[in-house]
Amino acid sequence: MNNNALIHSLPVQPRHFDMFIDGQWTQGSATRSVTRRSPAHDVPVSVYPSGSGVDVDQAVVAARQAFEQSTWARGSGEARSTVLLKTAELIRQHCEELALCETLETGKPIAQSRGEVLASAGIWEYAAGQARALHGDAFNNLGEDMLGLVTREPVGVVGLITPWNFPFFILAERLPFILASGCTVVVKPSELTSGTTLILAGLLQQAGLPDGVVNVLTGPGSVVGQAISEHADIDMVSFTGSTEVGRLTLAAAAGNMKKTGLELGGKNPQVVFADADLDAAADAIVFGICFNAGQCCVSGSRLLVHRSVEQRLTAKILELLARVRIGDPLDEATQVGSITELRQMERILGYVSQGRSEGAQLMTGGYRIESPQGMYLQPAVFSQVTPQMTLAREEIFGPVLTITAFDDFDQAMQIANDTPFGLAASVWSRDLNTSLRAMRQIKAGRVWVNTTIAGGPELPSGGFKQSGIGRETGRYGVEEYTEVKSVHLQLGERARWVQD
Ligand code: NDP
Repeated sequence: MNNNALIHSLPVQPRHFDMFIDGQWTQGSATRSVTRRSPAHDVPVSVYPSGSGVDVDQAVVAARQAFEQSTWARGSGEARSTVLLKTAELIRQHCEELALCETLETGKPIAQSRGEVLASAGIWEYAAGQARALHGDAFNNLGEDMLGLVTREPVGVVGLITPWNFPFFILAERLPFILASGCTVVVKPSELTSGTTLILAGLLQQAGLPDGVVNVLTGPGSVVGQAISEHADIDMVSFTGSTEVGRLTLAAAAGNMKKTGLELGGKNPQVVFADADLDAAADAIVFGICFNAGQCCVSGSRLLVHRSVEQRLTAKILELLARVRIGDPLDEATQVGSITELRQMERILGYVSQGRSEGAQLMTGGYRIESPQGMYLQPAVFSQVTPQMTLAREEIFGPVLTITAFDDFDQAMQIANDTPFGLAASVWSRDLNTSLRAMRQIKAGRVWVNTTIAGGPELPSGGFKQSGIGRETGRYGVEEYTEVKSVHLQLGERARWVQD
């Protein structure tokens, strides 16, 4: 376990939060509150009101009114951009406060939280540019008498449901793009990690966002999230989380035929060909499985390796893994912190024992590290994993790597695509033909060649198959929250249908 000096200390008292509806801080209809304990330290860190459908109704009224009556939707992209840029500036100024809250609620290392907050500020800045760049199209090729226009309009009121693994970063990949398009929003962060979303609501208000444009509700997903997905006056729902709840969201959205954006689970292959730089691949594979304690939808959890280099690569991975610093997330040197909740820890350990009973060979880890507090898990590596084993098929959402050997290119592609998911993949080869052919054949929304979990807001993210619907970030990320209107403009006299 890692054990160095800490810059931050634990809070003496938990921080009490209200919900944010129509520019006001309120307990709403809540008759009880929920206390979040730091998963790494087991002390209370945040207290939230437990909202209900009544609060959803109130927030939707505020968002609808802001959409119809405020200058947000009808104003210029420049005006929206100004608010988004100011928000980015405030995020940077409040970086330490946000990072500490994120670490205390998620258990992720403080240095990582800080990095995510600063990267989020960059995404808000990028989205500010998109607010000004968003445009439609014109058709000047319809003949002398006709001009065609395509306009983009904000969808309306968006319900945004976010998960607990990257609460602030995932919010940054969606909220500024929704705002850039001119929509208004009702946000429901995970009950486990609502703090940074509520801090952000205060920063948005300081940045000049009109009341009602962003509303933040807290409470259980099965109550507040479900009410958002079902609500008849919400025009679009954007959900990030498990495939199971994504399916519920899709069904609930059918009531009023909401537009739906989903980013769901993944079972992402790391495909290593025989000619790959094995040192670079080993380091990225260790990073890809340990990052955020494996609680990451794009985690590279399935290693597919050419049989001729399997042993060499496995030895390198085991050697690097032994040097990963696991421990107190408030320690600046920690690389892997606590698992975010006990239920998740038990789920991961359940997969480890299932893997053993199905005949996979546990090479290292897969056990809870002894510690007075916190839920630390020694990352697990399983070899001799066949594509049919549960370990290789289901999203574990923890630091568990499976190793499966392949004999040729076609077999590698067949195994890589043999999954209901299609979120991300990494390909390792020094040969351009091999890597580009693999990139083309893999069915996934994001492919990394000779790297992993890299990139910024310029490119879109999202999934193929059961990993999701729609795209976030990039130009696509703002267009996602617009409706397209086609306009035909008659120039001069229209030819009469009824003859004289
Ligand atoms: P969920 O899918 O339950 O949670 C995601 C979000 O949905 C949270 O805000 C949650 O609220 C909310 N929610 C829960 N139930 C409903 C509902 N009926 N209608 C609308 N919203 C709802 O994920 P879990 O926290 O249960 O994690 C389970 C598994 O999901 C993980 O092990 C992992 O496999 C996957 N996952 C994938 C993520 C990704 O980024 N793709 C992120 C998180 C999880 P609340 O938390 O308050 O209940």
